[in-house]
Amino acid sequence: MMTGPEYVQSLKRRRPRVFYKGERLQAPYDHPALVPHVRTASVTYDLAHSHPDVLTATSHLTGAKVSRFTHLFWSVDDLVKKIGMLRLIGQETGTCFQRCVGVDAINAIWSTSFDIDRAKGTDYHVRFRRFLERVQREDVMCAGAMTDTKGDRSLAPWKQADPDLYVRIVERRADGIVIRGAKTHITGAVNSHELLVMPTLGVPPEGADYAVACAVPIDAPGVTVVFGRQTNDERKMEGGVDCGTSFGIVGGESTLIFDDVFVPTERVFMAGEGEFAGLLVDRFAAWHRANYGGCKAGNADVLLGATALLAEVNGTIGNAIVKDKLTEMVHLVETNFGGSVGSSALAKQLAAGNWLVDPLLANTVKQNVTRFVYQVARLAHDIGGGILSTLPSDADFQSAEIGGLLRKYFAGKQGFDTDDKRKLIRYIEQMTSVSTLVEALHGAGSPQAQRIVMLRQGNLQEKAKLARRVIGLGKV
Ligand code: SF4
Repeated sequence: MMTGPEYVQSLKRRRPRVFYKGERLQAPYDHPALVPHVRTASVTYDLAHSHPDVLTATSHLTGAKVSRFTHLFWSVDDLVKKIGMLRLIGQETGTCFQRCVGVDAINAIWSTSFDIDRAKGTDYHVRFRRFLERVQREDVMCAGAMTDTKGDRSLAPWKQADPDLYVRIVERRADGIVIRGAKTHITGAVNSHELLVMPTLGVPPEGADYAVACAVPIDAPGVTVVFGRQTNDERKMEGGVDCGTSFGIVGGESTLIFDDVFVPTERVFMAGEGEFAGLLVDRFAAWHRANYGGCKAGNADVLLGATALLAEVNGTIGNAIVKDKLTEMVHLVETNFGGSVGSSALAKQLAAGNWLVDPLLANTVKQNVTRFVYQVARLAHDIGGGILSTLPSDADFQSAEIGGLLRKYFAGKQGFDTDDKRKLIRYIEQMTSVSTLVEALHGAGSPQAQRIVMLRQGNLQEKAKLARRVIGLGKV
């Protein structure tokens, strides 16, 4: 397994085509906009060495010790350990560490390719197994590329005015396929070695070309990465206290453009089996939605700590109302964590051997996250006060003319450094910013996507039967 620095070096050996703010980046992994996200992902490599009990597992493919981020969920214990791992890394970085999308994609493709082969006599699963063995051996970081740009959402992919608005197969050759289209909001894509392309929805036979799953190297010919903007991202160029921690905020999302990218046969894991595309999406979504009670709990632990410390600096920590608000934050965070552990504990084994979290609980967790992260942020804002949005800049604090005055007037509790107070304020500001909140709302699927699954899994008919029997409403 690689260390963090080895991971960064492995990225620098690649030559992806990356754009940011209209410019092609010649050394993307040294650019200040990207460096915090690369650093955060590198923590997943370093912690595998310092916390092997949490971040490593034994590969059932080879028997070797591998990163848990390349491991198949081979038991309930694996799933519960994964949630614990996400909380731990969330606590270490205080932000999104990106690598979980890949392991969920690995498990979704593993199980779905198995099902396709069994039904259709194809050999996708064998190909994927070979690919996964390499991923495990070389400790490859995979991004999960699922969300298409979607154009007019009232129209199916094949009915769009521009048929490329969903990624599709445009050519089938004897030795592979050619894909075209774009995927957007892709977490950690720019600093992943491989992109696991997956369909975004199930499709009927006329949309078969949109049912495509494959692996594409980040620097494959025809791939363009456009790194997205975030709230306050100019601050990364400034450095100093205002840019927050060295780990950045959320996952460094990108838009990926596939401009007639050739994918050799051995890297193709679904090519037209639209009836299995929805299954793949649902499984991926269940695993990834279950994660959110783990990683967000870890992030919230840091946010809670920062909020409590700021209350201490402000001299309000002893106030019963402030304590009650902090208690409410704890309650919201632990509710989500409990849901993630619960969805893992109730997992069921799939035909391919790996275990799928309970989809109802997983979707409920994510639904709660879409609300609770906002509520936690609101409470942090409430306790932190207006200074979270009005604190003067780092440059003003560094000014020879006014810096001393600012330090004098922004002092808090005696003995607490004003610069540390500013760091707390900036961390809370960033981790409750628009980028962070929108990620919690729409990451792993928007709220309505969870509600669709929740209603389906909620099994109202069965519950109506229960009501009839318990209440005694005639014959059941
Ligand atoms: Fe992992 Fe959480 Fe980031 Fe998703 S949002 S990639 S689960 S850290």
